Order: sequence, then structure tokens, then C-alpha cells
Amino acid sequence: MYEVLVIGGGSAGYVAGSVLARKGIKTAVVEKEKFGGTCVNSGCVPSIFLFDSSFMLSRWKEIGDYKGINVDVEMSDCTFSKRDDIVSYLSSAGRSLVENAGAQVYLGEAKIREKGKAEVNGETIEFKRLIVASGSSPISYPGVITEDEAVNLRYVPRDMIVVGGGYAGVEIAQIFARLGSSVTLVTRHRILSGFSEKARDYVIQSLEFDGVQVKEFHEVIKMEGNEVVTNKGTMKGEVVVSAMGRRPVLPEGLTKNYNVKVNEKGIAVRRNMMTDDCDVFAVGDVIDKPNKTAHSAMYEAIVASQTISGTPMEVSYECIPKVIYSDPQVGIVGVPEKATKIAEFPFNAVTRATISGLRDGMVRIGFNERNEIVYGEVIGKNAEELINILTLAVKYRVNMFDLATTVFVHPSLSEAISNASKSVFDLDVDRFK
Ligand SMILES: Cc1cc2nc3c(=O)[nH]c(=O)nc-3n(C[C@H](O)[C@H](O)[C@H](O)COP(=O)(O)OP(=O)(O)OC[C@H]3O[C@@H](n4cnc5c(N)ncnc54)[C@H](O)[C@@H]3O)c2cc1C
Repeated sequence: MYEVLVIGGGSAGYVAGSVLARKGIKTAVVEKEKFGGTCVNSGCVPSIFLFDSSFMLSRWKEIGDYKGINVDVEMSDCTFSKRDDIVSYLSSAGRSLVENAGAQVYLGEAKIREKGKAEVNGETIEFKRLIVASGSSPISYPGVITEDEAVNLRYVPRDMIVVGGGYAGVEIAQIFARLGSSVTLVTRHRILSGFSEKARDYVIQSLEFDGVQVKEFHEVIKMEGNEVVTNKGTMKGEVVVSAMGRRPVLPEGLTKNYNVKVNEKGIAVRRNMMTDDCDVFAVGDVIDKPNKTAHSAMYEAIVASQTISGTPMEVSYECIPKVIYSDPQVGIVGVPEKATKIAEFPFNAVTRATISGLRDGMVRIGFNERNEIVYGEVIGKNAEELINILTLAVKYRVNMFDLATTVFVHPSLSEAISNASKSVFDLDVDRFK
């Protein structure tokens, strides 16, 4: 009998399984496809591998020219097989993490047959508590490839229509445009809803610079094969990609045997990740929550594991950052509506950005009337790293003056953060550029 059965070996599942096992709690993790789930096999990892490749292809020449170095770059035949090697390495690393921690791994689909009993490949597994980490799957249309399939393509299509203006759609559009496809990005509203106007403007400008045709306010009526019919006309592409959202994946027998509430967005949970049934926790993309990212899935897995092991924790979604891996990248954290003032600082006034030829973008910090930091935004290269500084600031409501009087290394890109806070007190040092 296991203390905890974890269903799903993705970002949420492998973290929960390994953390619980390291605490000495008898745990099993069941995975029906590949360890690492969406993030490793068809999300973050293949997508960011291709993002880096496309960045090198399109920007190294430009950065080389900036620095007086002759750079000749071209894509080689093995780009896609290199991506696949990294994916399989990280997938087996996820499984090893769970096994090395002492949890039992089962490969196969878990079906819940009764309270405390699941079946995997005909074998019955008994458990006391359940963590559902079964993730989500993309919404699919006949003959149209999904976002998960797009990042695993093994060739560069001549032309591509990407439907969906969220982070996955934007990233896929820019990657393939830079790899050589002629790309059209179609979206019902504006792209990147939830991000600031400034961030959207930078990203749209950069997409258009890369040759992406951005078609906002196009309502898709039908998508099939290589055709997309919208309220403004019909478009055809060699490949059509649907990046229009995802649905939760529920293990068979879950709602029949447990008092778990589910809506169209996923399983309803409390802030400690417990469902309406106190024996069942749910974490990651399968839950009804605003932030469907791998890092929030891993955080929720830690919260659930701590709570189960007697050290209760609660999730605060306000402090979970989001990043779009476009170029320029955009990172945000916190709640802009809580800010009474915004301090901004552009990268083109930062010494390190000027040295490196990375002058696009800016830092924006929102603070309240007590000067506490409640929002952060980084637009530009390395936003994925810089936003983590602002995440700490938002989490602990750091005072702008304390940030302004903290010494940052010179020259560094993060001086944009330092200077944004300094500018509020007339202490910024890079204003002359
Ligand atoms: C193109 C793309 C790019 C992305 N980029 C990023 C990014 O840059 N950063 C980021 O943070 N997030 C990114 N994401 C989102 C991220 O991948 C997901 O939020 C994350 O993988 C969710 O983790 P999870 O463990 O909840 O679910 P999943 O990773 O989907 O894992 C669920 C696992 O459960 C298994 N499973 C399901 N049902 C059963 C069952 N009954 N029995 C056994 N096993 C079962 C599945 O096979 C799967 O492996 C991206 C997603 C996509 C599609």
C-alpha cells in the first residue's frame, strides 16, 4: 500500500513524486507516455531549443556586425535530431529523479477502479492519498497540427498559418519565420492578452520585422487541413497550427470514485492544492488556475507535497512570473492594477546592453503609495533571468528605495532594474545616454 499515488510523470508529477519520496513517504508515480510530460517532450524544451536556434540564425550575423566579427550562420540538417537528443536526455533525467529519490515508477495508464485502488496494465495499486498531475492536451482540429506537434516538426514548412495569439502561438510563429517559413499569425483578439501595450508593441514590431503577418481580430469560423476560414476571408498554408488552448486530462474513474469538482478549465482546488475530497490533491495543468506553466506546476507540486507531509503551504499566483520566449522576450510578475506609479528604464540607456548590441526593450516596475513593489515587467534579452529579481521583489514587497540603494554589478543588463528604481529618487546613473 502506497501512502501517495501520483498520476502523471510531467513537471508536476515528477516533482511531487521525488519530493515526497525524499521525505520517506512511500510513493508511486504512474506515467502513460513519456516522463517529463508536455514541458520536456512537446513544450518548453523543444520550443526553447528551436527558439535559441532561430535566435542564432537571425541575430548572430547582426550581433557579429555590431562587434566587428564576421559570422556566417546557417541551419544544418541535424538541428532537429539535436533537439530530439536533448528531449530524450531530459525525459530520462525526470524518471531518474523520481527513482533515485526512492519512489516506485509504473509505466502505463492509471485508471481508478475504486477509492484507494488504481489499475495500471492489469495490476492493482493500492494507495491512501492521490495526487492528480495528469496535465492537459491541446485542442485539435482535423488535419491541423497542434502546438505540441509544431515544436516537434522535423522540417521547416514553406508556409505556415498559426492560429492563436497566446504565448505558444507567438513563439511558434517567430521561431518558424526565423527558420525560413512564411508565417501568418491569426488571432481572435489582440495578441498576448494580459501583457502590457508596450510589451505587445515591441513583440508585434519584432514579429513583423521577421516577416510574420499578424492578423488580429480575425474570428476563426472553420479550420481543416491546410485551410483556415475566418470572418475576414480564407487562408491556406502548407501547415496550419492550432495554438488555441488546452483541455484538462482526467484519469478514468476519478470523478466517479472521489468527490472532486471539475469545470471546463480543470479540477477545482484550494490554495493548498487539495480538492473537495481531502484524500485527493491536484497540481499542474489539470487544475482550474490562471497560470498554466511548468514552473507553476512544479511549485504546486511542492505545495501539495509539503501539505501532505505535515508542513502546510499555500500557493500565491500573484508571485508566479510568466515569460514569453519571443525576441524580445517578455517577463511579467505581480498585479499591475495594484500599482499607483510605474518606473521605467530603457535598455538603450544601459551600458551592458550597448556593449552587447541588445538595446531593444525596457524594464518597468510598478509600486504602490507606500513605495512597495507590486508589479514587474522586463521586455528584452534575458527577461527570463531578470524577471526573477523582480519576482523576489514582488513576493517580499521590497521598497523601491531599498532596491534603488542595492548595488548591482556594472556593467550588467540587470542595471536596467536598478536604474528604474533609482530614477524615482533621481539617483539613476545612465540617463545621459
Ligand atoms: C509549445 C509549448 C511551449 C511551452 N513553453 C513553456 C515555457 O517556456 N515555460 C513554461 O513554464 N511552460 C511552458 N509550457 C507549458 C508547460 O509545458 C506545461 O504547463 C507543463 O508541462 C504542465 O505540466 P503538468 O505536469 O501539469 O502536465 P504534463 O506535462 O502534461 O504532464 C502530465 C503527464 O501525465 C500523463 N498522464 C495523463 N493521464 C495519465 C494517466 N491516466 N495515467 C498515467 N499518466 C497519465 C501524461 O502522459 C503526461 O506525461 C509550454 C507548453 C507548450 C505546449
